Amino acid sequence: MAPRIIAIDGPSAAGKGTLARRLAAHFHLPYLDTGLLYRAVGRRVLDAGGNPADRAAALAAARALRPEDLDRADLRGPEADEAASLVAAQQAVRDELLDFQRRFGAERGAVLDGRDIGTVVFPDADVKLFVTASQQERARRRCLEFEAKGMLRPFADVAAELAARDERDVRRLAAPAKKAADAVELDTTDQDADAVFAAALALIGQR
Ligand code: C5P
Repeated sequence: MAPRIIAIDGPSAAGKGTLARRLAAHFHLPYLDTGLLYRAVGRRVLDAGGNPADRAAALAAARALRPEDLDRADLRGPEADEAASLVAAQQAVRDELLDFQRRFGAERGAVLDGRDIGTVVFPDADVKLFVTASQQERARRRCLEFEAKGMLRPFADVAAELAARDERDVRRLAAPAKKAADAVELDTTDQDADAVFAAALALIGQR
């Protein structure tokens, strides 16, 4: 039977989004990049001149979030990365966004990617994948993403930002980023997108 809920978690730039999009197309499921929710909340706080680490400011932004906020063109880049990870560390913000994520999946099923999909948002997901890659490789991919947007950034800076953000995501008390006990790990360090997709399909087929 085709899966209804596919949960994909893992650190930044490991290949979650690419895999999630392809699985969604394959199984005719809607796709939600949950990182965009936290990015959009962070952006709203910055727009209002607030500090993303401030609980009241972050919660107000989460409450004011609108679907069209997810379409903004400025949700990626170093400033948005940092703001997203700061608002995401706050339990009140996570609580506020939980219902939207669950409703998104409840209607027609979904593929969702993030940090806590298999652990918190959909602990009963039909499929749970934990997508990883070496820190070096993830920093390399993030540099290429920046480059594609015309931002030439030093590798060392990108690698340091990525490491700091991952560290915060893993260490925070509110839904720390971690592999669900029943998730299957896919290491994409030496695999291209086609190979990762094929491996995921094979795993899903074995269920
Ligand atoms: O996945 P992405 O890198 O776009 O996520 C941006 C930030 O949002 C992450 O660094 C993390 O702090 C947060 N996030 C989260 N839980 C999710 C998705 C993203 O805490 N489910």
